[in-house]
Amino acid sequence: MRIEKCEGLSCEVTGAEKLYKFVEWNKPDSEHWLCKEHFEQKRELDDKQKRRFIEYYKDPFTRVWLDEKGLKLWERLSNQ
Ligand SMILES: [Zn+2]
Repeated sequence: MRIEKCEGLSCEVTGAEKLYKFVEWNKPDSEHWLCKEHFEQKRELDDKQKRRFIEYYKDPFTRVWLDEKGLKLWERLSNQ
C-alpha cells in the first residue's frame, strides 16, 4: 500500500508527492515516510545518535561490548 500521510506526531501533511522516505542509520530495513519538516527533524536526531555511537565506540575497550552486527556497523560508519 502506498503511504499517503506523514508519520510525524499529529502531522496533517498528506499526499505521497510531499513525503520523503527516511531510513534509520542503525536499521537499514526501517522505512518512514515524512513531510519535509519532519524529515529534517528526524535526520538531525538520527545524525546525532549516529555520531554519538561512532564516538562512544572509538575506544577499543568499549567496542568489545558490541555484538558482531554492531561492530560491523561501527566499522562501516567510522570509515566514511
Ligand atoms: Zn510531518
